[in-house]
Amino acid sequence: MDLFEYQGKEFFAQYGMPISAGEIAFSVDEAVAAAERLGTPVMVKAQVHAGGRGKAGGVKFAADIDAVREHATNILGLDIKGHIVHRIWIEKASDIAEEYYASFTLDRSAKLHLGMLSKEGGVEIETVAEENPDAIAKVYVNPVDGLSEQMVRDWIADADLPDAAVEGSVDILQKLYTAYVEGDADMVEINPLILTPEGVVHVLDAKVTLDGNSDFRHPDYSQYDETQPRDEREEAAHAKGLQYVGLEGSVGVIANGAGLAMSTVDVVNQVGGKPANFLDIGGGANADVMAGALEVINNDPNVKAIFINIFGGITRGEEVAEGIIEAMKRVSIDSPIIIRLDGTNAQQGRDMLAPHLSDALMMETTMLSAAEKAVALAGR
Ligand code: ADP
Ligand code: MG
Repeated sequence: MDLFEYQGKEFFAQYGMPISAGEIAFSVDEAVAAAERLGTPVMVKAQVHAGGRGKAGGVKFAADIDAVREHATNILGLDIKGHIVHRIWIEKASDIAEEYYASFTLDRSAKLHLGMLSKEGGVEIETVAEENPDAIAKVYVNPVDGLSEQMVRDWIADADLPDAAVEGSVDILQKLYTAYVEGDADMVEINPLILTPEGVVHVLDAKVTLDGNSDFRHPDYSQYDETQPRDEREEAAHAKGLQYVGLEGSVGVIANGAGLAMSTVDVVNQVGGKPANFLDIGGGANADVMAGALEVINNDPNVKAIFINIFGGITRGEEVAEGIIEAMKRVSIDSPIIIRLDGTNAQQGRDMLAPHLSDALMMETTMLSAAEKAVALAGR
């Protein structure tokens, strides 16, 4: 789950990190009222799930209320990398002496947490990595051992931050690590982390990705779930509890298990087709789940054929067959369905499906032949 900047800052604040006073606004009037309460000068900041807002004209300094009105008018409705701005964050403007970069994420190949710190902040870290990789100081953290204060001090020395920034950074980076671990984040990034002319270290931007699978530990994360950007199809699938990602093609894909769903998307591509979606119905392919999945795919006007790819493990073939037969009674489907059913009790399942086969419901014995059939019917 990706958080908006202001949500990321509120998340950071829960772990004691210093953030700027601010308010969220959905209209120009709300922005003006917020700025009046906060007191100018303020920044007017677009809230979208994309970085580089500053460069795109989505972050503006407002010295007075007239400027707030002008910038809010321009930024609301702005398109930033395909994301339309519907909300803006009005926050106190800070004086900046220097801008740094700090983040934690998981380095999967190292099997360790990775912290990155640079005194070249305010620009995209990818650019720094390309043009001046030595300017990024890294710290690898074993999750069992955790991050000690000494490690943080060594890391800051390695990044060559000035003396004035050391104590403030030690404090914030330790809290950032705690937020990352205890908050079950996949990624936390502060860019820029600033040093003010008065020598205060402060968080000026927040990029946070939370692990959606941890939400059972964090009931309050439902507020972030509600603000995830989803297209209509994804919204409908999400409401039914399905693991669905919308794609651009014409072959609707239903598979059990994320791995098989991925392979199904791959094999559709391999035989020259374009998948319309990724959809994992999970372990139990009962009638309710299957009907829900077929409904979501059927409502996608781009879909011209539906490929159901099931490999029974714990899920048994006859349950799947029953699910499909029952689902087809409930939902009227506009596109032909091609099924490949294998694994546990596959033969029983195929026998059950046999009397229902027609131009609308076809069966193939292999994943490849089923993909070819679906692509042929969908058109390339
Ligand atoms: P993005 O990374 O999406 O461009 P940022 O929040 O990092 O957005 O803002 C871009 C730049 O705007 C920052 O690098 C900083 O220079 C400036 N800025 C952002 N917030 C403030 C603030 N509260 N006070 C002063 N300058 C700010
Ligand atoms: Mg930034």
